[in-house]
Amino acid sequence: MITVHNVSHDFEIGKKGRQTIFPVLKDISFTVNKGEIVTIVGRSGSGKSTLLNLISGFIRPKQGEISINGVIVSNLNESKFADFRIENIGFIFQSFQLIPSMTAYQNVELPLILKGISEAARRKMTEEMLAKVGLSDYQDHYPGELSGGQQQRVSIARALIVNPPVILADEPTGSLDSETEEDLLQFILQLNRDLGITFLIITHDDKVAKIGNRTIELKDGQIVEGMIAS
Ligand code: ADP
Ligand code: MG
Repeated sequence: MITVHNVSHDFEIGKKGRQTIFPVLKDISFTVNKGEIVTIVGRSGSGKSTLLNLISGFIRPKQGEISINGVIVSNLNESKFADFRIENIGFIFQSFQLIPSMTAYQNVELPLILKGISEAARRKMTEEMLAKVGLSDYQDHYPGELSGGQQQRVSIARALIVNPPVILADEPTGSLDSETEEDLLQFILQLNRDLGITFLIITHDDKVAKIGNRTIELKDGQIVEGMIAS
C-alpha cells in the first residue's frame, strides 16, 4: 500500500549565500501492507513529521522513491499530487486543522465539494458520516463550540468521507485527554477491522504505538534495525 524506497531528505538552512545542509532522513526504506496499522515512533526531532510530509507529498524527497496504492507519487507535480491525495489519503493531525469559520457539517462536506460531488449526494454522505462518528447532534457547531475529542472526530469524518484506502496520522492523540484518546484508538481499530483502512500513525505515545501491527523506530533520521514487531 505504501512503499518508501531509499528515501533521504535534507533541508537547506540559513540565509541565502550562507546556506548549510541539514540532513534529516537517511536512506529510509519500509513497506506498509494493505490492511496494516503501522506506527512510527522516535524522539522529537528524529524526522517523523518530515517522513509523513514526504509521504503526503507536501514536500518532495531529495532522493528515493515513494509509492502509494501502486502509484509512484514522489515524482508527481503539486497539482497531480493534490488530485491523488483527495482520492487516496485521509489525514488526522494533532491540531485537527479544522476550518474555524465552518460548522462541523461544512468541514466534513468540504472534500466532497472539492471532488465535485452534487449537493444532494453530499448531504446524504455528510449526514451519514457525522452519524458514524457520533456527531449528528453537533453538525451545526463551529469547531470552537466543540470539545477536543469532538473536534478530532470531525477531522476523522472529514478524512473518511472520500473513502480513502489509507489514513496518515501525525500525533493524533497529542491534544486529547486519556479517556478521549482511548475512544479514538478504539475507533481507529474499528475502521481498520471493518473497512480495511490502512493506517500509518506517528506517535511518541506508547499506548498509541501498541495498536500497530508493527512499529518502526526512527533515530536521528534512520530506522533502528531489529525493531520489535508488536
Ligand atoms: P519529529 O516530527 O520527529 O519531531 P521533524 O521531522 O519535525 O521531527 O524534524 C526533524 C528535524 O528536521 C528537526 O531537527 C527539525 O528541526 C528539522 N526540520 C524540520 N522541518 C524543517 C524545515 N522546514 N527546515 C529546516 N529544518 C527542518
Ligand atoms: Mg513531529
